[in-house]
Amino acid sequence: MVEVAGILADYDPSRFSTVTLLDPATIVLTSTMMAAAMTIVLFSAYRSFPVEVRGLGHQSLGMLSLTVSGLLFCAGPLIPEGLLLFVANSTMLGAAGLMLIGTQLFYGRKPSWWWLALAWVAGMGCLVGWYVITQDYALRVAVFSLLTLSFYVAQLVLLVRHGERHFSSWFFASLLLVQSMVLLLRFVAALNGAVGTSNASNSTVQGIFLLTANFMTLMMSVGFMTVATRRLQVVMEHRSCTDPLTGVLNRRGFAAAYRREVALMKRHGAPISLLSIDLDYFKAINDQHGHAVGDQVLVHAARTTISALREIDHVARFGGEEFIVLLSRTTAERAKAMAQRIHASLFAARGGDVPDYTVSIGIASQQAPDESLEALMARADAALYRAKAAGRDRSEAG
Ligand code: GH3
Ligand code: MG
Ligand code: MG
Repeated sequence: MVEVAGILADYDPSRFSTVTLLDPATIVLTSTMMAAAMTIVLFSAYRSFPVEVRGLGHQSLGMLSLTVSGLLFCAGPLIPEGLLLFVANSTMLGAAGLMLIGTQLFYGRKPSWWWLALAWVAGMGCLVGWYVITQDYALRVAVFSLLTLSFYVAQLVLLVRHGERHFSSWFFASLLLVQSMVLLLRFVAALNGAVGTSNASNSTVQGIFLLTANFMTLMMSVGFMTVATRRLQVVMEHRSCTDPLTGVLNRRGFAAAYRREVALMKRHGAPISLLSIDLDYFKAINDQHGHAVGDQVLVHAARTTISALREIDHVARFGGEEFIVLLSRTTAERAKAMAQRIHASLFAARGGDVPDYTVSIGIASQQAPDESLEALMARADAALYRAKAAGRDRSEAG
């Protein structure tokens, strides 16, 4: 108690005034350390996330660029002013530009390197002008605010157009909006001469701007990590449900699709049908042409089957040379017609890049939700067996 009282007695609120907290050097130093930390977080994600999550490398480089520019500002007194201005402002512009490139890659857009180059030339031109023509600090701030603003607005537009309807996108978009507003305010403040006379001006406006801008720039990478992590989840879920060779559903993906169809059946009472498709004499194809060509035949069979079906149907492969098709809202009669369509599509696709082959199909339909998937599949397999026994390249209903 006494010690606590001692600490409290030592506490002097005046030492923690707003001005002390907004000391520009402290703000730049702490945000530089955080930028370094975010560089590592993004780089680590870049190294470990699957290739489908693009842009992490450029975002990480952007944060590294920001770290370098922060370090240069911190080391300000040790570096000739001219050099500091050019290098630190280059890296800062580069940081915002690289973040835009990262976000563009993430959404599968072409990266606008020309934009980054143009902004850099404009920024450096402004610095030269600042030295040669007029040392107007406010004008310099206005130009740089506008240039960086363009990078953030471009990202915001990308998110609005291509962002997934998910919390992560809303969060990242909100951050981009706030950052854009901050830069716009800074631009307006500069035009009105309210930004002091140098980066080190200890005015409250300058302090608040530095704090917000630095914090928000860091938050940009947090926002990007949020959408990247969400993309990782989507990619992983997709991978865990698909067969890597053919890209159709695997056992897990098929079970989920079947559950959805049974739920629909309960609601609407529509029947579902199952096709069990097995390639004929597939072992002979492997023996004659090799396992790699056998794999190509499997991919070909999956694609051709999909092309003969509707969007709402599901195709799966549990391994081996057998495919299972789940026909949504389909009666036994309609399923027979669909099986014929598959035979016809495979026949029409003959003479292509892979050896000719045929399939046998077993058909089973389910009218009520109480039958199990195993029982339905057993009926389809029994029908398939009959199709094989009857000479193959045909379908049988069970
Ligand atoms: P049937 O007309 O009676 O179905 O004869 P089949 O030769 O197609 O049947 P069988 O079950 O004897 O042979 C299936 C072959 O499929 C054996 C196996 O080597 C091959 N196979 C299973 N999975 C794969 C795969 O992923 N890739 C390749 N290339 N072959 C596979
Ligand atoms: Mg076979
Ligand atoms: Mg088989």
